[in-house]
Amino acid sequence: MELLNTREELRRWVEQHRREGLITGFVPTMGALHEGHLSLVRQAARTCDRVIASIFVNPTQFGPGEDFDRYPRQEAQDRALLEQAGCHALFLPGVADIYPPGQQTMVRVEPLGSELCGAFRPGHFQGVATVVAILFNLVQPRFAFFGNKDYQQVAVIRRMAADLAMPVEIVGLPTVRDADGLALSSRNAYLSPPERAQALALSHALKAAAAAVRNGERDGKAVESLARQVLTDHGVERIDYVAVRRAGTLEAVERFSEAPVLLLAAHVGKTRLIDNMILSLGK
Ligand code: AMP
Repeated sequence: MELLNTREELRRWVEQHRREGLITGFVPTMGALHEGHLSLVRQAARTCDRVIASIFVNPTQFGPGEDFDRYPRQEAQDRALLEQAGCHALFLPGVADIYPPGQQTMVRVEPLGSELCGAFRPGHFQGVATVVAILFNLVQPRFAFFGNKDYQQVAVIRRMAADLAMPVEIVGLPTVRDADGLALSSRNAYLSPPERAQALALSHALKAAAAAVRNGERDGKAVESLARQVLTDHGVERIDYVAVRRAGTLEAVERFSEAPVLLLAAHVGKTRLIDNMILSLGK
C-alpha cells in the first residue's frame, strides 16, 4: 500500500492511474478503523481497479465541546488493517493539505443538513460536505464508498454530488454490527462495559420497530413512540431524536406505503450514538 502524505504525492498517484485508465474507488474515513470501514474497502476492491482510502479527522465537522481532541487515533494499526483489506493507497493529509490558508468556501446542503443530526450538531454536515467535496476534487474517484450506518451523511453526500454535478458515483453499503446487534463505531471505544450493554438499546429499539412494521404498523408516529419507549426502558435518558423518514431522501412521512427508514440518536454516558434501519413492510 502506498502512503501519500501530501497533496503533491496524491496528485502524482491520481495522474498515473488516470494515464493507465484505471478505475479508482475511494473510501474516506477518520481512522480508528473497524470491520465497518474495512467492509467498504473490500467492496471497493471487488468493484474497482484501485482502492484509495483517506484518514483525516476533520476539525470542521466537530462542534465546540465535541470529541475532536480525544477522537481515537491509531495510525499504525489502521495502516496494517487497510493493507490486509486490499487497499492500494492511503492518503494521510495534514490540515493544510485539505484547507489551504485563507480558505473561505463551504458547501451547505440545506435543509437536509440542518435536520436530524444537523439540528443537534450545527455546522456538522457543512463540515462533512466541504471536506468530502475537497477530497473528491483531490482524489477524483469514479466511485466513493460510504456506510449506511451514517444514513443522513450518505443522503447529504448524494445530494451534494448530484447538485454540483460531481463526476463520482456514491455507493452506500450496509451497516456492520457486532454479533449482539451493536453497530460498529469508532466511538464505541469510549463505552465502559455497563455503557456497552446499555448501548444495545438502540438496536433493540430498531428491531422492535421493524417487527411492528412487519406486523402491519404503518403509522410513523406510532413507530417512533414504540422505539422511544424501548430506549427509555433500557435506561437511555438523553434521546436526541427518533424519526421515521422516507428512505433515501429523508423527507417527512406520516402513514407510509413503502419501507421507510427509522433513525435514532441518543447519548449513553458521555457518548453520542446513532443507528438506523430500513423498516421492511413484510408480506
Ligand atoms: P468515519 O471514520 O466514522 O468517518 O467513517 C468512515 C466511513 O465508514 C463512513 O462512510 C461510515 O459510514 C462508515 N462506517 C462507519 N461505521 C460503519 C459500520 N458499522 N458499518 C458500515 N460502515 C460504517
